[in-house]
This record gives sequence, C-alpha cells and structure tokens, in this order.
Amino acid sequence: MIKIAVSGCLLGEKVRFDGGHKRDEFITDELSRYVEFLSFCPEHIAFGSPRPSMRLVKEGERIIVSSNKDGSDITKPLEEASKRELFRLEESELCGIIFKSRSPSCSMGSAKLYQDNGYCESSKEDGIFAAMCKERFGDLPMEEEGRLNDAWLRENFVMDILCSTESSAISSPTTISSPSQRTSNATRAVFTPHSNTKAPLKRAEACLNTWQDLSKKR
Ligand code: SF4
Repeated sequence: MIKIAVSGCLLGEKVRFDGGHKRDEFITDELSRYVEFLSFCPEHIAFGSPRPSMRLVKEGERIIVSSNKDGSDITKPLEEASKRELFRLEESELCGIIFKSRSPSCSMGSAKLYQDNGYCESSKEDGIFAAMCKERFGDLPMEEEGRLNDAWLRENFVMDILCSTESSAISSPTTISSPSQRTSNATRAVFTPHSNTKAPLKRAEACLNTWQDLSKKR
C-alpha cells in the first residue's frame, strides 16, 4: 500500500492548540482511496492538546519557537518531540508527506516569522518539524494542504507519490532511475491537460491501475 505521512489535524484528529482539527476533504475523502496515512503531530507530543498557541520569532541569527501565552522559549521541547516524530516516520517506507500550512511546526515555507518586538517579518519560514523532514527525506514528494487546492500542483503531487513507490523496481522496457524520470514515464500514458479539479484524481486512478498492471508483469 502506498503510504504517506500527513499532519494529524488534516486527518480530523483533534490535536490543534485549541483542541480542534482542520480536516481536509481532499485528503480524507479522495486521496484516502489510494493511499494509507501515517499521522504526526509534534506539538501534541510535546505539549498535549489543547495548549497555548506559539509562533516563530527571530532572535538575533536564530529562529526560536515562542509561546504566545507568556513569550517563553519552547524551542527545545518542540525540537525533541519533532525528532521523535521524525524517527517514527523513518521507520515507514513513505512515498510522500502532506503538511499543514502556516504552522510553526508543520509549515513548508508559509509560517509567519516575528521579530521580538512583535512585528512580522516579510519572509515566511518552514516550521521546525517540516525543516527536519526536508533535511532528512530530501527528494520525497512533500506538499502543504493549501497548495493542493491548486489542481495543477495537486496532480503533480499525486503523480509524484504514485511514482515514488515500488514502481521504481518495475521491470519496464525502459530503465527508470530517478524520481523525475519515473514521474515522466508513468504520467506519459495517462496525462492530458485537465479542465476541472476531479480530473487529476481520475488520471491518478488510471496511473495507479497502470502501475498495478505493470507490477503483475514483473
Ligand atoms: S503541529 Fe502540525 S499536525 Fe499538529 S496541530 Fe499543528 S499543524 Fe497540525
């Protein structure tokens, strides 16, 4: 089964700072038909839920995580919890990761960065956990749920996760070595420009069927 890691709140788990969730319909209702999810939530591991909200703050050359309750530096416990979640993900053969946008832990380049006087920097940052995942998992397909609302990005991501599976080992007439080559070859048979947001999933299904058929011929 294709396995991807997902921010727990996007799966409907009540792990957000306010005890709520941010269930994402595309992930839970559509993508779930093709893949198995492995959830993670470093903040819940570190502080439980509900908990005070937090933010990224620039302190000299460093970026720390600061509690919005009392301004304390809570970087260390969050980093430790993030490492534990990272070790857990490392034990699975992941084909991709979906992060919650704008989170000081999970964001992929969309978290606000504050100065210690409370003003917001113009640049956005990776969350603590997402930065660790990017460093550890390198070329693994990763996206934020917000970007997956874009049909084109969604299609690319779906194709990437399908093509980062065992398809690398499929004995096809062509030797496929890199993830980009695999994507290109797997999508060639099923990819056509789309006109609506359901189309990528139909082609993903076709791609998956193609991949399964090829697997049987190994
Ligand atoms: S740390 Fe990540 S998974 Fe946990 S609530 Fe925040 S965004 Fe969701």
